[in-house]
Amino acid sequence: MAIRRVLRYGTKSLREPSKEVHKVSKKISDLVHDLLETMYTNNGVGLAAPQIGENYRVFVIDVSTNEEKLSPMVFINPKIIKKSGAMVSNEGCLSFPEAFVEVKRYKSVTVKALDINGKPFVVDAGEGTLLTRAIQHEFDHLNGVLFIDHCINKAVANEELAKFDLPPVEEENLLEEPELEAALKND
Ligand code: ZN
Repeated sequence: MAIRRVLRYGTKSLREPSKEVHKVSKKISDLVHDLLETMYTNNGVGLAAPQIGENYRVFVIDVSTNEEKLSPMVFINPKIIKKSGAMVSNEGCLSFPEAFVEVKRYKSVTVKALDINGKPFVVDAGEGTLLTRAIQHEFDHLNGVLFIDHCINKAVANEELAKFDLPPVEEENLLEEPELEAALKND
């Protein structure tokens, strides 16, 4: 196990799509352990493999709080099989140290994935929970999508990024999300 360097926004490979895992081999379980160790060291809630320079479809999440200790969750080859509603989520990312930006997210998601033993599982992440937001955030990393691509307000996002010496929002990567926008308006 090793603590790995987290790639910072602006690194090209963060924009590259990640490969499916064909077999949960020793190499993949070592990768999962590195992700967990690196996430805990940096006080993160989630970390995706491309953030440590390994473009595989793997991420880890731990939504434990001081009041409630939970087991870390490992997602290999995840698929979002259900999504509904919309919400605004104030998010950070270990690849954007200290910056927080408001983004559009689905309010509920259900995801299917393989666990560390290669066994399939399905999780309904609940409505508006930290887990629901974290799953969408980490899942995006596997497709080269970053949370700022979902920002509510580009000017506000750029101000925040500049504060932490991070490059501005990439216009060409901003997402049009009519479904989420319509749902937010109806809320
Ligand atoms: Zn992130």
